[in-house]
Amino acid sequence: ELILAVETSCDETSAAVVRGGKEILSNIVSSQIDTHRRFGGVVPEIASRKHVESITRIMKQALAEAGATFRDLSAIAVTQGPGLVGALLVGIVAAKSLAMALNLPLIGTHHIAGHIYANELVHEMVYPCLALVASGGHTELVLLESEGRFRIIGRTRDDAVGEAYDKVARTLQFPYPGGPHIDRLAHEADEEIQLPRAWLEPDSYDFSFSGLKSAVLASINTAAMKGEAIRQAALARGFQASVIDVLVTKALRAVREFGAKQLLLCGGVAANGGLRAELTARCAAEGIPLLIPPLKLCTDNAAMIAAAAHLKWIRGEYTPLDMKAEPGLSLESWSV
Ligand code: ATP
Ligand code: MG
Ligand code: FE
Repeated sequence: ELILAVETSCDETSAAVVRGGKEILSNIVSSQIDTHRRFGGVVPEIASRKHVESITRIMKQALAEAGATFRDLSAIAVTQGPGLVGALLVGIVAAKSLAMALNLPLIGTHHIAGHIYANELVHEMVYPCLALVASGGHTELVLLESEGRFRIIGRTRDDAVGEAYDKVARTLQFPYPGGPHIDRLAHEADEEIQLPRAWLEPDSYDFSFSGLKSAVLASINTAAMKGEAIRQAALARGFQASVIDVLVTKALRAVREFGAKQLLLCGGVAANGGLRAELTARCAAEGIPLLIPPLKLCTDNAAMIAAAAHLKWIRGEYTPLDMKAEPGLSLESWSV
């Protein structure tokens, strides 16, 4: 079976054709980052307009690169939420029109289920498994007791980890998105400014990054008041060390407590070199199989949406054609 998937939840316009939930025939991603960078972040109205401008071309390109025609398709999948409502709408309208015109089933898909099931495009997921979702809008520990069943056991109480990276990078005067700059700086640093770790209650799997962000700010202000130079690299390294320590420690504790057979890392922050290295080392030491998708499948793309939609396709769970964008769609309720 061939699923054509569309993803427009944020600032990437993407379309993909995937066979059997596994085999990527095409995965076209058009990023708007150059447009948004000068505003220091994603501007929702501009994102929607850009999606409108490119969605038809991107879908055609996905079909052409897959060597497929409309008649070869089995279903149309689209990100229903979470995301920016105006951005989601563009993909949804395009997907609905196609589903209606071609008389194909429509599958409204959860964006984070997509990030998690990006792993299935390159690896074999074994249940129960635990996913550490670390992206620009989410930081969650998700337990999958069986295929397509999501249980959130921990989530951020304030900023998402990618958001914290972007905010800290901004205070250090780096352009959006700032995550890669902090990552590089932390790697180059030859000293580290110690920053606090937010462990929260002893048994909690939740996260908090806003205090850490404030600690970075306080350190910058103190240096400025004393007329000292701001030790950018040492701060970046301290910030990154705190983030990684908390993420990795909580993820590994959850793997043990819930008897997960694998740990999955997904979302844009999975690109972080320090996080990958630390997770790899600690999982190896504890004998925990670690799955990380290739970078291209960690950031927003439509192939991951097809992979998640496949869970619904094989069960005949389709979405009514009058479905709406759901900016706050719940992952658990999207379970099969
Ligand atoms: P969501 O999936 O939660 O809706 P999103 O799709 O916007 O959010 P992603 O595209 O998955 O988020 O990830 C983007 C985030 O990843 C940005 O905050 C960016 O700074 C961060 N990021 C990218 N590379 C790195 C890196 N090397 N280190 C840390 N963060 C990074
Ligand atoms: Mg993005
Ligand atoms: Fe995303």
